[in-house]
Amino acid sequence: MQVISTKSAATTKECPPVGKLIILTGPSGVGKGTLMRSLVQRHPELHYSVSVTTRSPRPGEIDGKDYYFVSRREFEQLVAAGELLEWAEFAGNYYGTPREAVINQVRSGKRVVLEIELKGARQIRASYPSAFSIFILPPSMSELEKRIRGRAQDSEEAIARRLHRAEEEISAADEFDLKIVNDDFETALNTIEAAIFG
Ligand code: ADP
Ligand code: 5GP
Repeated sequence: MQVISTKSAATTKECPPVGKLIILTGPSGVGKGTLMRSLVQRHPELHYSVSVTTRSPRPGEIDGKDYYFVSRREFEQLVAAGELLEWAEFAGNYYGTPREAVINQVRSGKRVVLEIELKGARQIRASYPSAFSIFILPPSMSELEKRIRGRAQDSEEAIARRLHRAEEEISAADEFDLKIVNDDFETALNTIEAAIFG
C-alpha cells in the first residue's frame, strides 16, 4: 500500500500523520456503493468522501450523506473556484470530489476512499500517483445489467447510457493497481478490506 502526502516538505514535520488516498472505481451497478457502505460499517474510521452531483436524488438518498445535490450552475461555480479535486460528466450529469474535506482527512492520517468513475479516477491517479486504485469488475455484462435493473432506480435511458459506458470502463481495468470481481459479495468485501487494511 502506498502513502500519499498532501503536505509540502516544509510543513510535513509539523504534522507527521499522513493518510492514504484510495480510489474505488468500476462500472455503474457493479456494487461499489454497496461494498463501500459495508466497509464503512466494519471500519467507521475510514473516511468516505461524499461527492457533489447534479443528478437528481434517487428515492431514499439523503443530501449530504449520499451526495451533495446541486444545480449545474452551482457545480460550475465549484469547478471555477477550484473546490473540486476532480470532476467528470457521467451519463448526462456532473460528479465531483470536494477538495478540502479529502485533503484535511488525508492530512489527519485517515484512509480516505473516493468512489468515482473512470475519468475522475484517471485524474486522481495523474495528480496523486501514490493513490492506491481498485477496479471492481462484474462477473459478466448480463449480471451487470441485472444489477442495474434490480436497483430499479434508473430510467431506461439512464440504464442504456450506463451499460454503454460500462464497456469502455471495463476495458480500462488493467490501468488500476488491483482488480476485484464482485461475484460473491463477502469475498469481494474481504479482498477490498485486506487491500486497504492489510
Ligand atoms: P454502484 O455503486 O457500483 O453503481 P450499487 O452498489 O448501487 O452499484 O449496486 C447495484 C446493485 O447490485 C444493488 O442492488 C446491489 O444490492 C447489488 N449488488 C451489489 N453487489 C452484489 C453482488 N456481489 N451480488 C449480487 N448483487 C449485488
Ligand atoms: P450514480 O449516479 O450511479 O450514483 O453514479 C454514477 C457514477 O458516478 C458512478 O460510477 C460513481 O462511482 C461515479 N461518481 C460518484 N461520485 C463521483 C465523483 O465525485 N467523481 C467522479 N468522477 N465520479 C463519481
